[in-house]
Amino acid sequence: MSDYRFSAQRGALIEEIRGRGVTDLELLRLFDLVPRHLFLPEGVWNRAYEDAPLPIGYGQTASQPSLQARSLQALSPGSGDRVLEIGTGSGFFTALLSRLSDRVFSVERIRELSLRARKALDGLEIRNVALLVGDGSIGWRKYAPFDVITVAAASPSVPAALVDQLAPGGRLLLPVGTREAQDMLLVTRDSEGELHEEVAIPDCTFVPLLGRYGWSDEEPGGRR
Ligand code: SAM
Repeated sequence: MSDYRFSAQRGALIEEIRGRGVTDLELLRLFDLVPRHLFLPEGVWNRAYEDAPLPIGYGQTASQPSLQARSLQALSPGSGDRVLEIGTGSGFFTALLSRLSDRVFSVERIRELSLRARKALDGLEIRNVALLVGDGSIGWRKYAPFDVITVAAASPSVPAALVDQLAPGGRLLLPVGTREAQDMLLVTRDSEGELHEEVAIPDCTFVPLLGRYGWSDEEPGGRR
């Protein structure tokens, strides 16, 4: 998995992530182990270890690494967990999740991004990831329930279909708000099946979740 190009930049990124309050050593080490540049278009490799969202084509972005680290901290995926990711994008977060959990099921609506992510994951011999091209706002019922569900696109509300696919003890993290600004909500289902909701990470901005339980493709300003 290791690719030791950009090692000084990676060290600086890890320090930046630590400065954002992520202190778990296993999590920090992941950002050294998984080479982010291999998931990005070559044109932005020189920026791959900046703590910034970066363009990946098709109007989409790879998320900011420190936000991803904070998301992993909130979700705490474990070695036996089944994870559902909505919005594969570059596949970098998919790779991080694959190192922390048993299996990752990841859905992306843009075929070209999914294919590119598959190539990067294969190149690193990551074998515990299933990818699907489709509308992730409805989840992936065939493999439900999931211990962890993570959504990398902003939703107007918490999609009921995703909550339905959350296992007892499960954690769902997603940005909810307007198209312009969101808070990351953490929805947990306790062992009795009761749901709890809290703001885990305030004030963030994601690309919109398009689809049945997200925003309409045709109405840039409106809610579905
Ligand atoms: N974690 C990814 C990364 O670091 O590369 C972030 C990807 S980007 C912020 C969000 C992705 O969600 C985009 O690739 C977009 O196409 C995808 N997306 C939006 N709505 C979706 C939907 N309903 N189903 C699946 N993917 C969706």
